[in-house]
Amino acid sequence: MLKVKNQQYFHSVHLMEDKCKGCVNCIKRCPTEAIRVRDGKAHIIEERCIDCGECVRICPNQAKIVVADTLENLKAYKYNVALPAPAIYGQFREGIDPRHVMAALLAIGFDDVVDVAFAADLVGKKIREAISAPSEIRPFISSACPAVVRLIQVRFPNLVEHILPVLSPMRAAANIARNHVTEKMGLDPKDVGVWFISPCPGKVSAVNEPAGTEDNTISGAIPIAEVYPLIREKLNHNQEELDQIVADLKPGSGLGLGWARSGGENQSIGGSRQIAVDGIHSVIQILEDVERGKLSDIDYIEAQACVGGCVGGVLTVENSFITRRRVRILATDNAGRLDGVLCDEMACEALDNEDWFRHDRPIEPRPTLKLDDDMAVAIRKMEQMERIVEDLPGLDCGSCGAPNCRALAEDVVRGLANEMDCVFKLRERVAQLAGEMMELAEKAPPAMGHVEKKAEIENAIGEHSAKTKPDTEK
Ligand code: SF4
Ligand code: SF4
Repeated sequence: MLKVKNQQYFHSVHLMEDKCKGCVNCIKRCPTEAIRVRDGKAHIIEERCIDCGECVRICPNQAKIVVADTLENLKAYKYNVALPAPAIYGQFREGIDPRHVMAALLAIGFDDVVDVAFAADLVGKKIREAISAPSEIRPFISSACPAVVRLIQVRFPNLVEHILPVLSPMRAAANIARNHVTEKMGLDPKDVGVWFISPCPGKVSAVNEPAGTEDNTISGAIPIAEVYPLIREKLNHNQEELDQIVADLKPGSGLGLGWARSGGENQSIGGSRQIAVDGIHSVIQILEDVERGKLSDIDYIEAQACVGGCVGGVLTVENSFITRRRVRILATDNAGRLDGVLCDEMACEALDNEDWFRHDRPIEPRPTLKLDDDMAVAIRKMEQMERIVEDLPGLDCGSCGAPNCRALAEDVVRGLANEMDCVFKLRERVAQLAGEMMELAEKAPPAMGHVEKKAEIENAIGEHSAKTKPDTEK
């Protein structure tokens, strides 16, 4: 739907070129080294971008944006179902019951709502069963965070088989919703819009380009930030109207709701041989340990790209430290609801449909970091790259437009940059050229007046050096 022409992969993160000042903040933060600054503007390397939203978070000029669906898009369908991410419930003041937020979604224009926390309760059960089954693979890694799934595809391709082939609560909720409206209500599938209410660009991209399944049951993704002011308005001024709707809703239990924050997924699964990691750079450290075989005594890794979990997504509204606390309180208040959820008719029917929860195709690696398909050429390029790295100053300053010296060396061997893009190498070269010119001047025959010639060259060199000095040194 939103795919940009000629792009191989769907991306929700885009650059507003006119706002970019080439400050290089984003290139240093990107976990897959997917950004370069060229001619004063950032450029995203399409195959490497995982839509984690780190650059959106860090750009001081709001030049990185997330392109997602809007409520306007609901008009394309006769019947619209909202799938609210659990992170939405922490956005509103303490004491707001999740059912009132679900009711407010109906009041702002949706015809139905299937709580993703409800689906998370069921997915938790399926994960528990999957990781208890005998398997050579250890640890399994959660597939719930699409930015982590893409990170593995791009930067840790050897680990794709560790991704547990259980669909995320978002996908399970969509399957439940589709079945309900078509089988139970008899609606034509093409008349039904199913919308994920998203905390992050990663989920927006995953909605448009699913991993692990061919079947795209979700029509689009709308940011939490877009529906937030409308829901708040309803919560503040239409309490009675909402009270009349809540009875028919099916919210998830406290455990399902807890998926909004780091550690909540593991709590919902139960067990002790699990770890939870949040923040994309910490996730990278853990994946490096998995690659080294250090975590084979662990059954399952809950890994979330955002610090604090989905409450820290860039499409949320509230401070994640505040929302984490609210989610914890809501999870405790609603903890007793799990038995009710699992006995619910809709849940029982869903649990009997194994394919609503399973990947139907493998997640493919996307190893964009290898230097060449031919192993011998790749090794030669690697050696060349190491020589260049040795030769660069190792300051990782980013002035060359690459995130660090190693990335510049890689760009050089790929034929995308020049060693002289490094300002320090350029200065070194200018100084060397100056020396050579001086030497030449010394060699000029006295009959040509070499003393004057030398003074002339010294002046020319002085002017040239002043022009090539970085601004900070002028
Ligand atoms: S952070 Fe990146 S996108 Fe934002 S202004 Fe700086 S270079 Fe441009
Ligand atoms: S942690 Fe949650 S909000 Fe952040 S990228 Fe992953 S799925 Fe999205």
